[in-house]
Amino acid sequence: MTTTVSAYAATNKWGSDAPLTKTTIERRAVGPADVAIDIKFAGICHSDLHTVSAEWGEVTFPIVPGHEIAGLVTEVGSEVTKYKVGDRVGVGCFVDSCRECENCKAGDEQYCNNPGMIGTYNGVGRDGNPTQGGYSDAIVVDENYVLRIPDSIPLDKAAPLLCAGITTYSPLRHWGAGPGKRVAVIGLGGLGHLGVKLAAAMGAEVAVLSQSLKKMEDGLRLGASEYYATSDPETFKKLTGSFDLILNTVSANLDMADYLGLLKLDGTLVELGLPEHPMPVPAGVLIFGRRRLSGSLIGGIRETQEMLDFCAEHDVAPEIEVIEASYVNEAYERMLASDVRYRFVIDNATI
Ligand code: NAP
Ligand code: ZN
Ligand code: ZN
Repeated sequence: MTTTVSAYAATNKWGSDAPLTKTTIERRAVGPADVAIDIKFAGICHSDLHTVSAEWGEVTFPIVPGHEIAGLVTEVGSEVTKYKVGDRVGVGCFVDSCRECENCKAGDEQYCNNPGMIGTYNGVGRDGNPTQGGYSDAIVVDENYVLRIPDSIPLDKAAPLLCAGITTYSPLRHWGAGPGKRVAVIGLGGLGHLGVKLAAAMGAEVAVLSQSLKKMEDGLRLGASEYYATSDPETFKKLTGSFDLILNTVSANLDMADYLGLLKLDGTLVELGLPEHPMPVPAGVLIFGRRRLSGSLIGGIRETQEMLDFCAEHDVAPEIEVIEASYVNEAYERMLASDVRYRFVIDNATI
């Protein structure tokens, strides 16, 4: 039997005339391989905002966003082996994938190509129903797509790790951030501030490239050793050819030529931000300096667990502002204005 739970949903393309509002949704009955989770906290990712603003294409309304989920197991199916009632668990950006393609088998479920991962929201589950995310009281997820939250990480701080944490951890690992590597993070928001903390915890030398110097003190406290304003043209002159790795976490379009020019020979700029519109890349800046431009999508289940354990071991956690669910529309406005320090997290008891 399905369960009715409270949630916050967008019923139309989000805007001042179409805010997220309180509603109810149905959660599927707990199947043999499923875990039912009482959601305690849900982080607010800029991807939630892109999605409900229909900037990434088609959206099935009503939609309940939220893919940074932390809570407690309340029920397990008969075949579940990994979790028991009372366990502290998380759910990230996807709740299923084909499990059979090359990428799924390799643990890169986020790159499932058959036909793709099933998003935590705005996807279609195996039961044929639209998936709905974490701005809700509870969720039911197959145990293979559930993460274990280490005891030392409080649930409110664990939530943002499930997307912002893994999205920055994965490329830092993939491109070998560590001692002797100079890493720049563009944008000090949800992803960016965790990128700084994680890169510093890995032993890299970290620079922040922010629009202004307003958050400089924070950036240095988070682990950066350098902080620059991108509104100052001198920044680009001074830093030409400086970095081994650049993570671009900005949600809006940037002039890619300027930023690619900051890479050393064979350096890589990884695109993490996913703005609505394309960004032109002049060939010259790649050719002169054998520079690379790549992208990276969250991380697989195995790597997400590795990231959570790394955060517990290295005492890495996001800086959060816990909010009541009814504040979500203002939180979106503030996120649009880059006024977030550094992740909004909904206290789901207020839904
Ligand atoms: P966020 O908290 O809003 O942070 C984005 C930051 O970018 C802002 O804090 C701001 O930093 C900077 N910024 C915003 N507008 C800008 C502009 N017009 N010009 C220059 N800089 C600007 O967002 P987030 O949740 O970290 O997400 C960032 C992006 O990553 C979004 O596009 C999101 O959809 C995407 N994302 C991708 C993945 C993936 O798997 N690849 C996963 C999650 C999210 P400063 O104030 O420091 O300049
Ligand atoms: Zn996200
Ligand atoms: Zn697959």
